[in-house]
Amino acid sequence: MTAHHRPESKLNEAIERRREDLIVLTQELIRIPTLNPPGENYRLICEYLANRLKVVGFEIEMVRAEGAPGDSAKYPRWNVVARREGKRTGQCVHFNSHIDVVETGHGWTHDPFGGALVDGRIYGRGACDMKGGLATSIIACEAFLEVYPDYAGAIEISGTADEESGGYGGVAYLAEKGFFSPERVQHVIIPEPLHKDRICLGHRGLWWAELETKGRIAHGSMPFLGDCAVRHMGAVIDELEDSVFPVLKNRLTEAPVIPEGARNATMNLNSIHGGQTEIPKEDGGLPSPCVPDSCRLVVDRRVLWEENLEETKQEFRDAVERVKARRDGFDYELRDMFEVRPSMTDKDAPVVQTVTKAIEDTLGITPEYVVSPGTYDQKHIDRIGQLKNCIAYGPGILDLAHQPDEYIDVDDMVASACVMAASLEQLLVVPE
Ligand SMILES: [Zn+2]
Repeated sequence: MTAHHRPESKLNEAIERRREDLIVLTQELIRIPTLNPPGENYRLICEYLANRLKVVGFEIEMVRAEGAPGDSAKYPRWNVVARREGKRTGQCVHFNSHIDVVETGHGWTHDPFGGALVDGRIYGRGACDMKGGLATSIIACEAFLEVYPDYAGAIEISGTADEESGGYGGVAYLAEKGFFSPERVQHVIIPEPLHKDRICLGHRGLWWAELETKGRIAHGSMPFLGDCAVRHMGAVIDELEDSVFPVLKNRLTEAPVIPEGARNATMNLNSIHGGQTEIPKEDGGLPSPCVPDSCRLVVDRRVLWEENLEETKQEFRDAVERVKARRDGFDYELRDMFEVRPSMTDKDAPVVQTVTKAIEDTLGITPEYVVSPGTYDQKHIDRIGQLKNCIAYGPGILDLAHQPDEYIDVDDMVASACVMAASLEQLLVVPE
């Protein structure tokens, strides 16, 4: 779908006129390196957004998530919430974007914080996930304000911290403070990079846990005098391979998860540590000969709507118990780390219907409904805010998120901005 297919309208023209502005805005956001961890430059990017939105009449609230995980004097968890009231009462549409980005990693051919524009694509960490989406929603709102200054209701734009690390210093904190209460906000659009013609209704759940197998330390030349925690863990992994992974592979959801490989329940063995701490290479030297008395495994289990979180945990525990039953001296501890229930907005929800019509009218295509394999901030809006009318919709290709040479396509951003503005038109331009 290219720009010339789009129907001529005042809104689309107003967005097309802002193409250059959209590019520069995206580049400037990328150039503020908001790496998380540790949570850098949050205040700076919130002030940047505040200054921009003040100019077009938004009221600004800067909210620091004091006491949230990660919040410190050095790395304060700042959030910005901007609200612009219309001429009359009506509904409030909220665009929520996270301001943090993940580490750059290796393999870049562009400066990760340079925002280079090459062949219609802007490159940089966070280009698609999700500073491009944030810029797109701002341009959509600004164009809408120009065309419909007398709209009813309210528009909100938030830039929030820590989505990449669970969202506790961001959307979760704001939801606890009432920023997403159904009295204040009626529609939430999260411009995560799901693509301009897709509506993301929700996400799978998760359970993170740490399993520790216990042993007894002894001299490595006489392992029979100790008890090797790493071998115990090996037996656990064998059991998972035999009895759990095959079952998960065949347990499918009805929900339209993309990519399709994530339609079954999944489990990732995230990390494993056994025995003595590794000696840093630069320090040199050999390890001492010891039988490991502890081995820890971090498990990342993704949960389907059809599954139950308690049964999910029990299934894992049962596998470990089977190992215990057949191994002498086997002892373990299983600790919960983090859990999220699956979330899914109803297809009949007003925000879904609105954006569906906007995609049809603007792009001339029927949107695809998808759900995300990983969680995002919708979980907090759903669970803490009790707001069920929430979707993710935004430009960009999800697979590029967290990769080297992440980019956002400018035409896709323009198309998505037209869809977002058309959604505002449906919800906020109503007869008096
Ligand atoms: Zn994201």
